[in-house]
Amino acid sequence: MTSPDDVVIFGGGPSACAAAMLLRRLGYAVVMLARPHDPGRPDLSVSLTPSCRKVLAVVGLLDAVVAAELPPSRGNTVWWGNAAPRFEPFGGEEQGWQVSLRQLEAVLHPALQEAGVRLRRRAVTSEEGMALPARFRLDGTGRTGVLARRLAGRRLTAPHRTVALSAVWEADRPWAVPDASHTVIEGYRDGWAWSVPAAGHRRVVAVMVDPSTSDLSRGDGALATYRRELDKTRELRGLISGARVVQGPTGWDASEYCSSRYAGPEWLVMGDAATFVDPLSSSGVKKALTSGWLAAVTVHTSLLDPGRAALAQGFFAAREQEMFDQLQRLTRQFLTEGNPDAGGAFWRDRSTSDGHRPPDERADVEAAWHRLRRADRLALVPGAMTWSERPAVRGSEIVPEWRLISAAHPSGVRYLQDVDLRGLVEIAPQCHDIPGLHSAYCRQAGPVGWPALLTALSTAVARGWLRWADEPVVNVHDTATR
Ligand SMILES: Cc1cc2nc3c(=O)[nH]c(=O)nc-3n(C[C@H](O)[C@H](O)[C@H](O)COP(=O)(O)OP(=O)(O)OC[C@H]3O[C@@H](n4cnc5c(N)ncnc54)[C@H](O)[C@@H]3O)c2cc1C
Repeated sequence: MTSPDDVVIFGGGPSACAAAMLLRRLGYAVVMLARPHDPGRPDLSVSLTPSCRKVLAVVGLLDAVVAAELPPSRGNTVWWGNAAPRFEPFGGEEQGWQVSLRQLEAVLHPALQEAGVRLRRRAVTSEEGMALPARFRLDGTGRTGVLARRLAGRRLTAPHRTVALSAVWEADRPWAVPDASHTVIEGYRDGWAWSVPAAGHRRVVAVMVDPSTSDLSRGDGALATYRRELDKTRELRGLISGARVVQGPTGWDASEYCSSRYAGPEWLVMGDAATFVDPLSSSGVKKALTSGWLAAVTVHTSLLDPGRAALAQGFFAAREQEMFDQLQRLTRQFLTEGNPDAGGAFWRDRSTSDGHRPPDERADVEAAWHRLRRADRLALVPGAMTWSERPAVRGSEIVPEWRLISAAHPSGVRYLQDVDLRGLVEIAPQCHDIPGLHSAYCRQAGPVGWPALLTALSTAVARGWLRWADEPVVNVHDTATR
């Protein structure tokens, strides 16, 4: 079934597909072993954020997704905590998709096969997974964790557990939502609930509950708990009034976990096999695609240059942990803000104890931009910076690279808006105006648009990497990411 020359990927979800496609395009013999579709197995409806587009494009799967004309997602409608209702369309032309995981796989798998990935439909056990001959083995089997459960040291990261109870609803009238494509989210006293559109003008409606603090353990069944929880909501209860359940409810474990190890000699774990964060941010698929992309880059680097294998695998592990930490922080913050006045144990357990919010540097960047715009003459000097060699992705490889290190970015930053910071902080002190800086930068580092250069410059000043010659060094925070 597999040969020692193959890269073998377990699973057929977003992480597995992203890794398989990129590895195939890089010239590897790729075998994907994915559990056969069982129509009796429940399917999960998810919202894909517009940010998935970029990763899909990088791995070579965007065209297939766009061609499939999947139902769009244009934003969120939110009732959260004690705040006023929010209607949040995605910016500009951006749009995501509302799909089920099975629908998504049905779009991605033919594209993989066309590219030459050998897709085999079979469920793999951990024993088989460990024994199959391969150059590299990648685990993309989600919560199942064919390799992860043996090799990665999976651990729950919170004392509480979360279960999603979701059901499909049908109505004889149009759904009363401001935009039918939106994900609707509502916090209530004992949990939060969401709804997304499903095939045939139906809607999926789910409640997120804690089995230990909800009635789920009462023993009168998931349907009774599901209805009781929905009765506690205001908006979603109104949405389903007069509609009927046609499928479900189905229970989904949505408890958080991460791993102690993400890669080793000839194996790695990616997507939900590696980490899982509360679905509140709708970022699971984006995280899985990104993880699959980086897994492919790590495998490619390791096989191309075994001397860089440890560097690449260490980088992959650090990035997986970092993605989990960032998403978990963001989710905790949302959950803290979602706590209604009379919120019970569900909210207390999930709120950040210190209400910590990372500092927001937008005001500093704007102030830096205003001064740059007003200045008759550019008079910048190098500020407080530490450069160090760190692993980074270049194209499809992981290479050591000089990066700007700071407390907020211990793994370093090199590019901001695709502007090379090393070039920018070297060139800016030699220029007396912004047009001059733009020409000098483009000559030395390659073409870059005005908005990107100005954003990178303002950020560099706000973070203290460049400072005005007449200003003392100030202590600044730097929180924005690449
Ligand atoms: C209730 C809930 C709601 C969510 N909502 C959203 C949302 O709105 N937006 C979002 O982006 N994310 C959401 N997520 C998260 C998202 O579904 C996952 O993060 C994402 O699907 C992970 O992709 P993956 O490829 O790592 O794993 P999965 O999508 O879980 O894919 C695993 C694959 O492995 C296969 N497999 C499993 N066991 C075996 C085996 N033994 N042998 C072979 N193959 C196997 C499966 O069939 C499947 O193909 C939600 C999750 C939950 C639980």
